[in-house]
Amino acid sequence: MSTSIDTSAHLSLPDVPTQLFVGGRWRDAASGETFTVEDPGNGDDLARVPDAGVEDATAALDAAVAAQAGWAATAPRERGEILRRAFETVTERIDELAAVMTLEMGKSLAESRAEISYAAEFFRWYSEEAVRISGRWSTAPAGGSRLLTMKQPVGPCLFVTPWNFPLAMGTRKIGPAIAAGCTMVVKPASATPLSMLALAGILAEAGLPDGVLNVVTTRSSGEVSGTLLADPRLRKVSFTGSTEVGRRIVEQSAQNLLRVSMELGGNAPFLVLEDADLDRAVEGAMLAKMRNVGEACTAANRFHVHRSVADEFATRLAERFDALTLGHGTAEGTDVGPLVDDATREKVEELVGDAVERGAEAVVGGERVDGPGYFYRPTVLTGVPDGARILREEVFGPVAPISVFDDEDEAVRAANDTELGLTAYLFTQDLDRAIRVSERLETGMVGLNAGIVSNPAAPFGGIKASGFGREGGAEGIEEYLETKYVALAVPER
Ligand code: NAP
Ligand code: MG
Repeated sequence: MSTSIDTSAHLSLPDVPTQLFVGGRWRDAASGETFTVEDPGNGDDLARVPDAGVEDATAALDAAVAAQAGWAATAPRERGEILRRAFETVTERIDELAAVMTLEMGKSLAESRAEISYAAEFFRWYSEEAVRISGRWSTAPAGGSRLLTMKQPVGPCLFVTPWNFPLAMGTRKIGPAIAAGCTMVVKPASATPLSMLALAGILAEAGLPDGVLNVVTTRSSGEVSGTLLADPRLRKVSFTGSTEVGRRIVEQSAQNLLRVSMELGGNAPFLVLEDADLDRAVEGAMLAKMRNVGEACTAANRFHVHRSVADEFATRLAERFDALTLGHGTAEGTDVGPLVDDATREKVEELVGDAVERGAEAVVGGERVDGPGYFYRPTVLTGVPDGARILREEVFGPVAPISVFDDEDEAVRAANDTELGLTAYLFTQDLDRAIRVSERLETGMVGLNAGIVSNPAAPFGGIKASGFGREGGAEGIEEYLETKYVALAVPER
């Protein structure tokens, strides 16, 4: 099992900005402090970026506040055209951006390209939505006055994003905010700041006015975001990350009664009913589990399979997992890159260890790969018992735990038995059941015979402890708009 893998980087880091972006200018942290960005594929140092503090964060918000009124007054078409140009440039530079992303985050170049084109699509979509912001005009039911409703930008925003999709989790917020006429301070994850800095350069090239988008990289995320959340000039916070940190930000947001969007953790069930097309279920499982090395909020976290097809499903999934090639994300032929850091790998080991101790069997994988980089073998666990932690906690790695059920009610009960409610996957060929079960699943999204739900034209988001608010679709821009109503008194004729 311990065949060695290629952990050397086959590309060097492209030329990317490594400074803060504040008020349209690149600069260092006031303190002069920096921190290292690491390649998780081999532990090498890639670059150093500024470790911003409270003073830098405030300067970024100063710039966003100064730009807000002018930006809100620009023509919608102008905002849309900036997004469209940025979409074109990101698309043209996809290989260079993929190299940056793979080196700082670990996933394969093919996966990075897929994320980057997904990320760019939010700019294309919101370039088209920018010109479709509209209000209403109506006559009051009793007559005598007219009711005018208009949409206006919320104002300066704070965006905090995670490392697992370094670009797309940013563009889902930045795209609609630009379209709506909001300004922003973006704080990318400290593990993966380079992709966002590269994007800031592209938006500036596309003609985004100074101060509309500001990027601060920091290792003191709590302090930096706490400072901004306490500042009465901030109007909104949108956060993507863990439920634990999300809860804290919601609490802090109460002080200034901010508009809040929360894209938090997931614990997606993957249901395979007895009438499912197994070819499609296995294909869907590969996508739902192995996309992004399992480090996705939408990743299938647990597989609930009908007893009559569970053995065959497990055998076929294990064969597919076994055939995957591990290696540095830049190496030719790599399917599965490293996990982002050692803590993430340790959590995966802990959850697999707990399941095995309780009686589960690793039919493939079940171990780390020794040597440089944070690699973990794609793993299929069968016979996972009810109490196993892996069924309740987000695994964030390439592990598919399988448990069996006997009837539909039991499957739905198991699927909903979690505080989280982001995504669920359902495989069945029976139309009535497809609709009935989709309606009963307590999640914001359902993949019906589909292993992926993400689409820039659709409202992405969760319920329960997976958060609130939607990103993408026509809904996504509403997060950045306030509704104002004007009552017009009209004298009787
Ligand atoms: P995380 O620890 O919550 O970090 C997310 C972001 O919050 C990072 O920028 C992080 O900065 C920052 N942060 C950490 N502590 C903070 C604090 N006290 N105050 C303010 N900001 C703070 O999450 P993660 O481990 O990086 O990301 C994985 C999680 O994100 C998973 O739970 C996943 O399900 C979730 N996720 C959800 C969605 C969705 O759309 N629902 C999408 C992707 C990921 P540092 O990098 O400096 O720690
Ligand atoms: Mg973290």
